[in-house]
Amino acid sequence: MTARILVVDDVDVNVRLLEAKLTLEYYDVLGCHDGVTALAIAAEEQPDIILLDVMMPGMDGFETCRRLKADESTRHIPVVLVTALDGRGDKLRGLEAGADDFITKPIDDLILMARVRSLLRLKSVMDELREREESGRRIGVDTDNGGRLRGAGGRILVADDNELQATRIVEHLATDHRPVVEGDPAEALIAARSPIDLMIINVSSSGFDGLRLIAQVRSSDVSRRVPILAVVDPADRPRLVKALELGANDILAKPVDTEELAARARLQVRRKRYTDYLKQKLDYSLEMAVTDALTGLHNRRYMASQLDAMVKRAGQGGSEVAVLVMDIDHFKAVNDGFGHDAGDEVLREFGVRLATNVRAIDLPCRVGGEEFVVIMPGTNLEDAVRIADRIRRDVAATPFPIMSGAEHLTITISIGVAVTEGGSDSPEALLKRADEGVYEAKAHGRNKVISRVA
Ligand code: GH3
Ligand code: MG
Ligand code: MG
Repeated sequence: MTARILVVDDVDVNVRLLEAKLTLEYYDVLGCHDGVTALAIAAEEQPDIILLDVMMPGMDGFETCRRLKADESTRHIPVVLVTALDGRGDKLRGLEAGADDFITKPIDDLILMARVRSLLRLKSVMDELREREESGRRIGVDTDNGGRLRGAGGRILVADDNELQATRIVEHLATDHRPVVEGDPAEALIAARSPIDLMIINVSSSGFDGLRLIAQVRSSDVSRRVPILAVVDPADRPRLVKALELGANDILAKPVDTEELAARARLQVRRKRYTDYLKQKLDYSLEMAVTDALTGLHNRRYMASQLDAMVKRAGQGGSEVAVLVMDIDHFKAVNDGFGHDAGDEVLREFGVRLATNVRAIDLPCRVGGEEFVVIMPGTNLEDAVRIADRIRRDVAATPFPIMSGAEHLTITISIGVAVTEGGSDSPEALLKRADEGVYEAKAHGRNKVISRVA
């Protein structure tokens, strides 16, 4: 997927320099030299990110940012403010204007690319959530428009064995947030499982393996989504690169500048709150209209509307979409042998296993009696088959309780897998390929995963 980036700077050389760097990384770049033009281009072209110079004659970056964030048609586009290195106060002012991030001039290429990538990832999750929210509105579900969320009051875990540094960080954050320090990585990992809004991890000390801690936080289901701010010695490039690779959301240079610390903490906390909020609101307001009553999964209508939008986006150069179609094997025998209620118990348990086996942005749906579909955005065929097989094994491995646990039945499923191909793939064609996979699996003994390409 090629993301489009709008670069705004009154000095043409700066625009062209950034354009050259970003084009090398395969981004599409739009450029302009003043705030008024930037507002027009943003509304018209809907870029994925805006890099906005603060110091411009006429409308400056702060004002431009404020207007972008006040306009319904542009407020969802992440804005990165480009500030002067010694611009004291600029970062906090930028946040007040609604900026999503900032970088300082002269621009460090590595940091620029890391922030761009991180914002693009965040944007794609947010777009996904927003789209679901919109389809809720279309089918007449109330989705009230909550106020902007401030990035204050965050539960922040500081994992650092350097007492002096940790104390400074905590003292500074304590006015706006609720920070706690943990000097032992194993303890920090345990603490990361409780609901927290941000982890600040020291990766510049050799005795304290902060890099390993990042990897561990990212690899655990319960802490995977916690934002991480890594404290790094800027001269130690390998460690800085590694921290970003392992999944740190942002970097804070050592020695820690307290103003930058406050600004970056607020950014991360606000992002976390925003995604939590969207998820919560989604859960609450969409539940009834889009949910299958027996299993609590999404229903067929919702599946169809979401698949439509996702396939369309994939066709316009977005990332591919995978679908798994699943059908319980010999389900009729459960009903016939143990009664309809036992059949319902199996369906409910299957829904639970499905929902716990996929990512948050995947959509598990019950589309018919004992037929289920999972839509997985941004997933290639190989990964989709791997996930399908994991679900298949998980279902077959543990018998299903029926009659409130008095009996247990071994259940198996047949799964067909397909992934969007080319620019003209349709939801119908995609589902048909996956369906053919199911038929083939049934014909070859069931309890199988079969993928189909066009
Ligand atoms: P196969 O392995 O070929 O898929 O065989 P099967 O028995 O699973 O397939 P078939 O389509 O013949 O039977 C599906 C059964 O699912 C028939 C129907 O009574 C039952 N069923 C459909 N909806 C529900 C439901 O909501 N609850 C219960 N308990 N059973 C249902
Ligand atoms: Mg069937
Ligand atoms: Mg069946």
